[in-house]
Amino acid sequence: MHTYARQPLQIVRGEGVYVFDEQGRAYLDFTSGIAVCGLGHCHPALVAAATDQLQQLWHISNIYLTAPQAELAARLTKMSGMDQVFFANSGAEANEAAIKLARRYSKQKYGAHKGEILTFAHSFHGRTIATVTATAQPKYQEGFGPLPGGFRYVEQATIQAVKEAVTEKTSAILIEPIQGEGGVRPFPTEFLHELREFCTRMGLLLIFDEVQTGAGRTGAWLAWQRLGIKPDIVTMAKSLAGGLPMGAMLAVQEVAQVFTPGTHGSTFGGNPVAARAALALMDVMSAPGFFEQVRRREQQLYGELVKLAALREDIVDVRGLGLMWGMQLKTPRAGEVVERCRELGLLVLTAGPDTLRLLPPLIVSQKDVELAVNILQAALG
Ligand SMILES: *Cc1c(COP(=O)(O)O)cnc(C)c1O
Repeated sequence: MHTYARQPLQIVRGEGVYVFDEQGRAYLDFTSGIAVCGLGHCHPALVAAATDQLQQLWHISNIYLTAPQAELAARLTKMSGMDQVFFANSGAEANEAAIKLARRYSKQKYGAHKGEILTFAHSFHGRTIATVTATAQPKYQEGFGPLPGGFRYVEQATIQAVKEAVTEKTSAILIEPIQGEGGVRPFPTEFLHELREFCTRMGLLLIFDEVQTGAGRTGAWLAWQRLGIKPDIVTMAKSLAGGLPMGAMLAVQEVAQVFTPGTHGSTFGGNPVAARAALALMDVMSAPGFFEQVRRREQQLYGELVKLAALREDIVDVRGLGLMWGMQLKTPRAGEVVERCRELGLLVLTAGPDTLRLLPPLIVSQKDVELAVNILQAALG
């Protein structure tokens, strides 16, 4: 169905930070499949792990254990600072699981009246009926009513606005520490600290949607670890298995224990092939110096973008963290710049009509960043 406004480009192969079209033309990929191929395309360690698993076992129901899933659960919880994990297949599903867990926990702890979830203006949490309702942007919801109840929106990133939105029914606050689809908008760290403190004081759960920011994107395994603000529940997906579908919802013990046998499930969640790819990705990212290298590229890219913005009147803002950057233009011509970049051999994204979005693989070199910025500058005209 026509649900995507596709670019006129068919990609047949990817290798590292490059993808190739049918004619064999190379494109420097600063999209990473929208923050999915965090280690670039066909990383040898991931190819080897997934191929090995394909020859052993593709799938078995979650009524049985598999070693890859068990090992991944152990390593992922440890690396994420959480106690338990539920495996899903996508970001929306991970968020659905978080919504269910938060409601069940708060109902058991405080009573059946609980269940409301607060989310923020410009957020994006997925496309299922519940997660599109959590997504506080009318354009994603239009034509899909009746939408489920139990979501309230906070219009501004202030504790005052949060206080006004909270009711006695509120269970949790769901927030992307850096909003992705909504325009690459980092929340002020000070606000996130206040939010953490507020949730703890009010008995509310803090849920971080790290579907886009997770698995290394911000220069740490999870953005919360870089920001120093720990949520009670965190969701991941996109880059978790480096390009194979996998989602995860992680929580601290006290909250996680309300999910008992039969309360939630997924046919494909924690698939052994995806689990092996995720384990290989975690191996690469836990090697000494990996995130230091990502942060060196962050400094370089941020520096170059700021320099570019200083030279040009049509760039009004540069914002982001790690290797997730948005460049806001004065006019809504981001789509046109994306096209021009593509013609010049660089793939970039938009995040709204006036914002360009750069999500390079975390393995980009200094030269890749230089080349991308040069093309971007040419494309801006
Ligand atoms: C992409 C995204 C989702 C949805 O993930 P899907 O895998 O497409 O369901 C949810 N939250 C955030 C922050 C995202 O960036």
